[in-house]
Amino acid sequence: MREWIEQPAAGDLPPEKELINLLLTEDEELLSCLYARARRMREEHYGRKVYIRGLIEFTNFCRNNCYYCGIRRDNKQTERYRLSEQQIMECAQEGYFLGFRTFVLQGGEDPWYNTERVERLVRMLKEHFPDCAVTLSVGECSRETYRRWREAGADRYLLRHETADPGHYGMLHPPELSWENRMRCLNDLKELGYQVGCGFMVGSPGQTAAHLARELRFLKEFRPHMVGLGPFIPQKDTKFAQETAGTLSMTLKCLALVRLILPDVLLPATTALGTIAGNGTELGILAGANVVMPNLTPAEERRKYTLYDHKACTGSEAAEGLAELKGRMEKIGYYVSAERGDWKGEKNDV
Ligand code: SF4
Repeated sequence: MREWIEQPAAGDLPPEKELINLLLTEDEELLSCLYARARRMREEHYGRKVYIRGLIEFTNFCRNNCYYCGIRRDNKQTERYRLSEQQIMECAQEGYFLGFRTFVLQGGEDPWYNTERVERLVRMLKEHFPDCAVTLSVGECSRETYRRWREAGADRYLLRHETADPGHYGMLHPPELSWENRMRCLNDLKELGYQVGCGFMVGSPGQTAAHLARELRFLKEFRPHMVGLGPFIPQKDTKFAQETAGTLSMTLKCLALVRLILPDVLLPATTALGTIAGNGTELGILAGANVVMPNLTPAEERRKYTLYDHKACTGSEAAEGLAELKGRMEKIGYYVSAERGDWKGEKNDV
């Protein structure tokens, strides 16, 4: 295993058995070798910069009912909110002032925010902040809708696939959602020229090390520009309320392995990672991550975006805590970059 860690040909993966052993190992020497190699690879492509994205959680209405999600349609405990266009622009203005050059518009699949309204929002953001990237993360849509948003100026799209195993997908989602449609969306987004992010939960109910090995093989084949992965954290109003959360150690291993197989990928140390461990963000960066997504949503609404319990949304997880985040990154030898932070791979490589 050590030979593979030291010499992974870009995009290469070890044989299945070795990969599973690596995912399950607790050998500290081997793991520190894995993290060191992941850091070297991220530094070859992105130096010691940490890109920041201003996250605007603009609606927690959702027409879907994913079993693990706290804001799913049938959860009557969720206090619903929807930011107005003006509120969203104010969040972006505040973010721009703080130094953000990427805005991530994230929401449930809210029918009120239809194709036209999101299209208008994207146009407004690009007009007011022409030097900024706009990322959308609003779920599954038709190719035509994705095309219109791309034409309006959207640069990137995040759509986690959650699991590369269709059977496992069926355990986590109700029957009206299909793995095949999720894949159709991801392929459409890529063909339309977005920088595309997919991703999965680590430790989701029913997941085994073999599933994680399959995730890595899927990523190698799909070659996304971004990968969002974080630990599964149970939410009290879901059918998975009593399930165990994913672990810090497995999440860090997955981050490092993703960096090794996709050296130029944009890889966030996610809020979920910062939620399960106070120093999760630092550990994520030290395992190969190079992106952090502080929250620009107004504080009152932020606490209602309860994808999972106890979500970190203050301190350095919040945009207003940017100075704290900068200090924390500097302490581990990295620095927050004011750039847009686009993907730096070869275009003809995907
Ligand atoms: S995971 Fe996304 S699509 Fe599914 S219920 Fe939650 S917000 Fe809606």
